[in-house]
Amino acid sequence: MSSVLSHADCPLLPLVGADVTVPLVDGRSVRHVNLDGAASAPALASVAERVNAVLPWYASVHRGAGYASQVSTALYEQAREAVGSFVGARSADVTIFTRNTTDATNLLAGAVPGRVLVLDVEHHANLLPWRRSLGGCEVLGVQATVGATLKALASVLSRRQISLLSVTGASNVTGESLPIDAVVDLAHRYGARVFVDGAQLLAHRSLSLAESGVDYVAFSGHKVHAPFGAGALVGRPDWLEGIEPYLAGGGAVRRITDEDVEWTDGPARHEAGTPNLVGAVALAAAAEALSSLEPDAVAAHESSLRSRLVEGLRELPGVDVARIWSDSAEPIGVVTFRLEGVDPGLLAAFLAAEHGVSVRDGRFCAHPLLDRLGWGDGAVRASIGVGSRAEDVERLLSGVRAWVAGER
Ligand code: PLP
Repeated sequence: MSSVLSHADCPLLPLVGADVTVPLVDGRSVRHVNLDGAASAPALASVAERVNAVLPWYASVHRGAGYASQVSTALYEQAREAVGSFVGARSADVTIFTRNTTDATNLLAGAVPGRVLVLDVEHHANLLPWRRSLGGCEVLGVQATVGATLKALASVLSRRQISLLSVTGASNVTGESLPIDAVVDLAHRYGARVFVDGAQLLAHRSLSLAESGVDYVAFSGHKVHAPFGAGALVGRPDWLEGIEPYLAGGGAVRRITDEDVEWTDGPARHEAGTPNLVGAVALAAAAEALSSLEPDAVAAHESSLRSRLVEGLRELPGVDVARIWSDSAEPIGVVTFRLEGVDPGLLAAFLAAEHGVSVRDGRFCAHPLLDRLGWGDGAVRASIGVGSRAEDVERLLSGVRAWVAGER
């Protein structure tokens, strides 16, 4: 195992705060091991540098003749280009800055002209917005294998008029994905478009709209190692230009009179209000840093750390690791587990207070999936990414072993 781990000893990209220490209950201080990136991933050092460089030019975007305002406008539009190219946007696609994935999904939900089809394994952000869309949504129960799930999707698509099939790029509970090419083939065969919830996927794997044929993708800055407050929806413009602006206000308007308003089109239609320049620049910096990595190197790094974690957990009695499908491809660096008879909240608190390890516990905004797994009272989730190191995994494992051994 050590030879497998050797190339995972160092992070692939440096993170801000990677070496901060935290106090333990026994009075010692240890390096903070942050394995909670699936909730919010720590900023990359290169993102922090870019944000610092932009602060002197912080001024109103699209609204000023002054030099700083002109620079800010140029930086904002460059960030849009970078974010679009991060997800392989086609030349006609629109890249709209949003607050996060939830915001982006709600925006698209207001634009879908008909019914949406979605599986019951999704994060609430990829379930609830569709219930509000014009044609409502159909929630399909996932099957035990990928093949059977694709068949079940095909059966609904062939019988019902579906405008949009919405799938997660990677589950925030198990890290698993459906094969995107197969999903796109299927949906397009029956005249439906495809939306990919990229919130978890894009910190770990690349996605190209142009190459995959995916119609829309949404993601959040804070899950791809940029700070909070900026995300994006990228995809086909027609539905989005056919609806009223997501927010009414300055910037979304071409002309306004007492009686009437003419809305603008393009991304500005749905970006009313003063744009989040710093968020957009940070998001673009993270996108560029992640794109600079060799995809195979990222997959190998995560895979060796994830395997080590899963193997180490399985050596312990009463441990169960969540999976949706028995035959899915290797998941991204997300591992959700339970220890029989153990309250996940207590275990997570113990790992933080006695071992300096941050993980997430709870139901991960995926209640239907947790219920389906029979884990309705929650679980513990550890996430591994480009900033993770072998010693992070070892610290988590030694914490869980200590719990099992009753050292608390
Ligand atoms: N989709 C998935 C798969 C997620 O994991 C999350 C957040 O955890 C979201 C959507 C929502 O992301 P945000 O809270 O940034 O809008």
